[in-house]
Amino acid sequence: MTDFSGLELIEPLRRALTAEGYTAPTPIQAQSIPHLLAGRDLLGVAQTGTGKTAAFVLPMLQNLAKRSRGRPAAGRPRALILAPTRELAVQIGDSVRSYGRFLHLRGTTIFGGSPMGKQIRALAGGVDIVIATPGRLMDLLNRNKLRLDDVSIFVLDEGDRMLDMGFVKDVRKIADLVGSNRQTLLFSATMPTAVAKLAEGLLSDPVRVEVAPQSTTAERIEQRVLFVEKAKKRALLSNLLKDADISRALIFTRTKHGADRVAKHLAKGNVIVGVIHGNKTQGARQRALNGFKKGQLRVLVATDIAARGIDVDGVTHVINFDLPQDPDTYVHRIGRTARAGAEGKAISFCDAEERGYLVDIEKVTGKAVPVHTDHPFHAQEIADAEPAGGKSGRKNRRRNRGRNGGNNGGAWKQANGGGSVRKFRPRRGKGRRPGQEGGSARAA
Ligand code: AMP
Repeated sequence: MTDFSGLELIEPLRRALTAEGYTAPTPIQAQSIPHLLAGRDLLGVAQTGTGKTAAFVLPMLQNLAKRSRGRPAAGRPRALILAPTRELAVQIGDSVRSYGRFLHLRGTTIFGGSPMGKQIRALAGGVDIVIATPGRLMDLLNRNKLRLDDVSIFVLDEGDRMLDMGFVKDVRKIADLVGSNRQTLLFSATMPTAVAKLAEGLLSDPVRVEVAPQSTTAERIEQRVLFVEKAKKRALLSNLLKDADISRALIFTRTKHGADRVAKHLAKGNVIVGVIHGNKTQGARQRALNGFKKGQLRVLVATDIAARGIDVDGVTHVINFDLPQDPDTYVHRIGRTARAGAEGKAISFCDAEERGYLVDIEKVTGKAVPVHTDHPFHAQEIADAEPAGGKSGRKNRRRNRGRNGGNNGGAWKQANGGGSVRKFRPRRGKGRRPGQEGGSARAA
């Protein structure tokens, strides 16, 4: 499809798309919009950056506008969009406002960490669309500030994250409160069994639309891994940031504390940096995000949860200061660059303890992440590396030859801490995931 004319969108929406500067639908939009306008349920396998928000917001606005009979009753929205984090909710709210600017529909965004009064007043004034995080929505439902009986369109965005963050019970409860005569949409970047199960329970005869499957999302993204000792990561980062091509970088750390430490270190080196994580106030997070979006901050350091769903165009580099334990998280992270057709680079630091994570990531993405050897630290590592002795040292050399054509032995040896892979090998399985730090993982 070359432009939007084949999608039968109403004029106020087409005008809004022109104002946004969109000339053609993205694949997920072209595939989803006709089915959604026809009222079908939909299971969308897509990550942010594919244009999925417009894919569900445009038909939602059109269907609501067509069925509108003036201002909705107080506290009885007609459409509900659930998002796992405040940032994503705010972003979807912005999209609803932009795409709906020439329509007379009303929407409000509801999330935790900000006063309830304003949200309660907005609901009482009558809104067509509520965009909410599950926790705060449950709060308001328990206080009888809204009812969901009139909701005819129900969207669950980032289903996989929603489950990761422990929202499954809330989501099910909320779904039960939404009238059964509804159109339901579920979007998820990945489709683990738990999400498939949730979809099965919520959707009725859904159309399945899948774009950029996991294994190919990274195609436009130039990925590199740098082997480095844990203690040298910060110095390596400062070194990398001397490269002026890194003009807008999103840096991921596994923990909130780690994010603060990295940001502090960079600030000392005069890098203009912001940081977002679960211990920051909503205001501070939004300010940092806005500064990053406007280009006032060159670097934003974030934990996975805080960065969930944030949509910033023009991110030139994603840097994994720590590798995530969960390969899906890696795919999510690097997807923050190379958005909307742009090119992007993803650089991952890997220390001895993270080797196992890298192996898992490569299994899921289906390809080896090339090792970046052209950095000053690499040379130093080779010089520093002691001859690897013993059994595991030999094993590592063999492994290394297989992967990198044998020209990278020093870096591997050093990365393995002189052959102590086993000792460092991380625990696998269903442990707590990195970035999920106790109760703070819950956004709302
Ligand atoms: P999303 O996947 O919804 O997070 O959208 C990713 C980015 O693509 C956002 O910055 C949108 O504004 C942008 N976008 C969405 N649809 C289009 C389109 N048809 N043409 C150009 N940009 C788009």
